[in-house]
Amino acid sequence: MRSFVVAANWKMHKSPSETVEYLKSFLNKMNKVSLTTSLDHEVAITFGGPGESQKYLDKKVIFFVPAVDAFVASEALKGSAIEWGAQNCYHEQSGAYTGENSAAVMAELGAGYVLVGHSERRSIFRETDEDTGKKLRLIQELNLTPMLCVGESLEEREKGITSEVIIRQLRAGLESRIPHKAVMIAYEPVWAIGTGKVATPEQANEAHQILRAALFEIGGDNQADKTHFAQSTPILYGGSVKPENARALSHQPEIDGFLVGGASLDLSSFMALCQVERE
Ligand code: PEP
Repeated sequence: MRSFVVAANWKMHKSPSETVEYLKSFLNKMNKVSLTTSLDHEVAITFGGPGESQKYLDKKVIFFVPAVDAFVASEALKGSAIEWGAQNCYHEQSGAYTGENSAAVMAELGAGYVLVGHSERRSIFRETDEDTGKKLRLIQELNLTPMLCVGESLEEREKGITSEVIIRQLRAGLESRIPHKAVMIAYEPVWAIGTGKVATPEQANEAHQILRAALFEIGGDNQADKTHFAQSTPILYGGSVKPENARALSHQPEIDGFLVGGASLDLSSFMALCQVERE
């Protein structure tokens, strides 16, 4: 029901020329890779444009690029099955908000997604739970898919309040969502982001189970809506994912993909993550 998602968060890295170079080689190389997989269902995905279709794993690949690279990323990926998104947006479409990025402009450029509430936005830029809710609503109004990031700090984990924190962040982010419109969730324990310290597959799976149960609770007024929301919403894991630890994480039943920072900057590492065998 849910496809596996591998998403790159480039943060504030890569210039427009580096973006084009990376994405063009990614498409080229992916078209040459012939994957053998034990996955039950394979689908034909055209990575690099018409006429270059190959059989690949049933994976969705998304690049969250810096706003200044949005135009060239969109051009480079045109005609391929690879999607891109923005790393942040303001909660208004336009206006006197010097220096902010508009989700409406990203939509016009062809974005499919916007990250909301990444821990760096929360901690460095003081983004609040309330901000995440407003942004998520606007993103959905523009027919883009929000990827809401939640995660506890080391201190919160040590205090034993992980569930409380991630459920609070989840509820706040989804409070004003438009029912029946898609959302994605990324569980990113703050202590694992950019630290090289990865959550164990069991720790990650447990947090994902908690989030899945919360998605069910807030998924609607009736059983069918609740079940649909909980079962159709992908929950990605993020936090020092690398080719060496990805396989074990991907085997966990509640992990529907990865949000990858550092390792996505390197083409061969990210390609390896896109080809990870799940079973
Ligand atoms: C991230 O930025 O969302 C992230 C998970 O970073 P890293 O993979 O470097 O930990």
